Amino acid sequence: MVHRVAVLDKDSCVSRKCGLECIKFCPVNKTGSDCIILGEDAKAVISEELCTGCGICIKKCPFEAITIVNLAEELIGDKIHQYGVNTFRLYRLPVPRTGGVIGLVGRNGVGKSTTLNILSGNLKPNLGKYERTPEWDEIIESFQGTELKQHFQKIALREMKISVKPQQVHLIQKAWSGDGLSLIKKFDEKGVAKELVKELNLDTCINKPVTDLSGGELQRLAVAVTASKDAELYLFDEPSSYNDVYQRLAVSKTIRGLAEAGKKVIVVEHDLTFLDYLSDYLYLLYGESGAYGILSVLQTARTGINILLDGYLPSENVRFRDSPVVFDTAAPVEEQLLEEHVIQYNEFSKNYPGFNLGVEAGGLRKGEVIGILGANALGKTTFMKIIAGVEKPDTGNVETPLTISYKPQYLSADFEGTVRELLSKVSGGRFESSAYESQIIRPLAVHKLYDKSIRELSGGELQKVAISASLSRNADIYALDEPSAFIDIEDRILLAKALQRFVRAQGRSAFIVDHDVQLVDIVSDRLIIFSGRPGVEGHTTPPLNKLDGMNRFLRELGITYRRDVDSGRPRVNKPGSKLDRHQKVVEQFYYMSNTSTEESED
Ligand code: SF4
Repeated sequence: MVHRVAVLDKDSCVSRKCGLECIKFCPVNKTGSDCIILGEDAKAVISEELCTGCGICIKKCPFEAITIVNLAEELIGDKIHQYGVNTFRLYRLPVPRTGGVIGLVGRNGVGKSTTLNILSGNLKPNLGKYERTPEWDEIIESFQGTELKQHFQKIALREMKISVKPQQVHLIQKAWSGDGLSLIKKFDEKGVAKELVKELNLDTCINKPVTDLSGGELQRLAVAVTASKDAELYLFDEPSSYNDVYQRLAVSKTIRGLAEAGKKVIVVEHDLTFLDYLSDYLYLLYGESGAYGILSVLQTARTGINILLDGYLPSENVRFRDSPVVFDTAAPVEEQLLEEHVIQYNEFSKNYPGFNLGVEAGGLRKGEVIGILGANALGKTTFMKIIAGVEKPDTGNVETPLTISYKPQYLSADFEGTVRELLSKVSGGRFESSAYESQIIRPLAVHKLYDKSIRELSGGELQKVAISASLSRNADIYALDEPSAFIDIEDRILLAKALQRFVRAQGRSAFIVDHDVQLVDIVSDRLIIFSGRPGVEGHTTPPLNKLDGMNRFLRELGITYRRDVDSGRPRVNKPGSKLDRHQKVVEQFYYMSNTSTEESED
């Protein structure tokens, strides 16, 4: 048995611009019933009781505003919240528990924020009864026999202390005008401000006004403030954003410390390496963005991440992606590539007051993607700009007779017009070619944004449009600076696959700078590693094969990777474990080909 879920994207439904096709073509309407009607706000209203799920309205709606899905009948009793008629709904909740960090992972728009808001007590769950929110007694009763009953009893009585790190760390600058140290001290109920400042590498910025802090500094300050409170439950929403890999490791140490001290900790995150390193258990939230979200059963972190990469949830028999992410454990890809170089550069340098960048000679071959890894403030963006011809080096020479399309790290939304108009302008109409549409636009679902104004886009949507705009230009080399920022785990995987397919099919090449090590690992054929002293000096390696490049990078990080025995994906070894110590002794920081020692790690 199934139950019907009908969801309308109200922003997309513009009935004055269509012929009311959904209402005219609905077969139930044709029998004289009111399955779809026009509501008082001139938007479609769909009756989930009358709808047969035929899907005709989905195809007829010119704005793709309607989603109709059939879900298992059993889920009805698991409904936790629904915002209104034909709107998003969430099924099931994670159970906070001690004994390890719990990760929560899923696409944007499938209910991660709703989940955190409910668990933190900021949103009262209505159990799907959006006409009248139930009283606490009814809500608590509905969790009878589960550990969540006690959780909501405490919330109702205001007896549970919960500390939340929100996603939008920039809001701190609106709420606080003093320096970082005074902010931590205000909330520091455990007297741990000093240690947290040190642990999170905030020493050099903690006395600055918060309005002067960078995104990464604000993020770590928010983590410090959250961790300094004396709470029973800690909720962290995307604590890795804006931080480089070193800083992400520091954040993960702070969060793990809370769990080790016996606290309940739940973390929402999109960076798989970080999640793998940080969490002991995982819940997957799957569903359709903006329509519904369903929580999986609790998995170990290893199993959860493998399921995520596989795109198939065996316990629920649900496939949430067409194909798995496959890690190539065979010969390095570079040997299969053409040797023909599209760009070669000699050694060059660039000097600013107080900062020097030194680059070793290298080149980029047709059809390959070069990943760039390193800490923040080592000159990665400057390197990309020089290669792109946007800036000139001080010594050495970079011949750029080829055209380079560059996607900057920081995106601007000041284009007046729609996504379609922007793509049409930057690509000269090329974005409508079928190859480009099937390789980039459709996989990233940018076509759904065509009629949206650039100014209205969310951070993730703007990122996808910026990537698409960059790839729509007719260029020899594509240079993408931090394309993973603001986009969810599924889009990161899709981006990696789409980019690789695109450069190979088109015979082009790409540079990609990112702090998501798993993304860089999936997408890259070779690597350039940046090292040095952040903000003082940076130097690069030439392009290295992936094994040498990752070895070099991981040695600097002090972490080791092994291959997962089932999926072949690289996994972070637990620090100090037998395998970690052994790989460090033999200097194989990246996975060793024949290791299959998952048991010793989990
Ligand atoms: Fe009507 Fe439901 Fe079919 Fe849409 S899916 S046309 S609402 S019966």
